[in-house]
Amino acid sequence: MAQKMDITTAQQNDKNMKVVLDNYNLGPLKTSINPNDNKEYWDKMARIWKVTPEVARARLCANCEYYDNTESMMLQMNKIPLNKYDMDGGGRGYCCKFDFICHNLRTCSAQESKKYDKPIDAEVIPPVSKQKGKMAYLPIGKDRD
Ligand code: SF4
Repeated sequence: MAQKMDITTAQQNDKNMKVVLDNYNLGPLKTSINPNDNKEYWDKMARIWKVTPEVARARLCANCEYYDNTESMMLQMNKIPLNKYDMDGGGRGYCCKFDFICHNLRTCSAQESKKYDKPIDAEVIPPVSKQKGKMAYLPIGKDRD
């Protein structure tokens, strides 16, 4: 069932985000996918979690179990205007734990990594060189005959 966003204004979003900034080490403020950037922040998170910096950098809002970036939630979040944190966060998601809009490339000390279960209907497509007969999938724009 689709989740409902519990905030309706930018002010509520800012207020809840500040709680996470002040108490749960939300960051890094300036995100980057470069593994050498934000060393101070990620080393601190590694110490908090008692893991290596490499593991810390893999614990993101993007893969947190409280992070909702479903289509339905993405549309609900459109009611809250973009702010400066949206500009480099790598995309929005709704934090269901703290009720604010967080971002793929950030994290906080309450992060809980979610598991991934491959859908049972996921098909394994063999490499084209090994396919016999008709291809099951055709490039976009090509019709099946
Ligand atoms: S609880 Fe999860 S989704 Fe919420 S801010 Fe922390 S890491 Fe991001």
